Amino acid sequence: MSTAAPDAAVTLVVNELFGPTFQGEGPSQGRLARFVRLFGCHLACCWCDTPQTWDRRRHDLAVEQRHLGVDEALNWLAGTPGDLLVITGGEPLLQQRALEPFLAAVRQNGLAGETEVETSGTIAPSPAVVEAVTRFIVSPKLAHSGLPERQRLRPAALRQFVLSGKASWKFVVQSVPDLDEVEDLVTRYRLNPVWVMPEGTDSATVLDRMRLLADPVLARGWNLTSRLHILLWENARAR
Ligand code: SF4
Repeated sequence: MSTAAPDAAVTLVVNELFGPTFQGEGPSQGRLARFVRLFGCHLACCWCDTPQTWDRRRHDLAVEQRHLGVDEALNWLAGTPGDLLVITGGEPLLQQRALEPFLAAVRQNGLAGETEVETSGTIAPSPAVVEAVTRFIVSPKLAHSGLPERQRLRPAALRQFVLSGKASWKFVVQSVPDLDEVEDLVTRYRLNPVWVMPEGTDSATVLDRMRLLADPVLARGWNLTSRLHILLWENARAR
């Protein structure tokens, strides 16, 4: 592949690259996609489904991370079919400095029709990242994450995502009463559009919670997303 050359010294700290597969969650659910899962997270949600990106008590973090040159990531992308590129984590915006040249080169070289960045919404996106992405999938954490509010909700960052005009809001929900907490955040920060997603890492839990949430979510006029990869492959890595 011949791409416009990014700075060879810039590296991303990656947990895994995978695809083609389907985007399992949110507004692009079911779309053919390539995933770049970045290493590292500054939060510690008690139900986190990717603890290998940050939790040294459960994982050997030295094994779970590798430094990948931006040019190597671009080469992988060029050889992996799909229109959608999903940047996920961990918390990808911890690596904004390296993401900026990567995303710019992806655009410049036409390596993705659309690019989504999945984030907790606690770090404001830089102007260059806003410019380069198609959409942010922002997932502010609720109280059931076990995190104190000051850690999981950063009003200034949330406002930057709203101002970007590129944010979809995906709330991880365990039970119907959680929807009141979502409503409070949606009203307080004027979040739109809203997607509710059941928390769960096995298909039975995801389906049970989807069925409980479907009518209450409809009643509030929001969108509902399953976790397609869990329904298809349970909690397999890199699917
Ligand atoms: S923000 Fe995401 S990656 Fe970080 S601990 Fe929470 S669920 Fe896991």
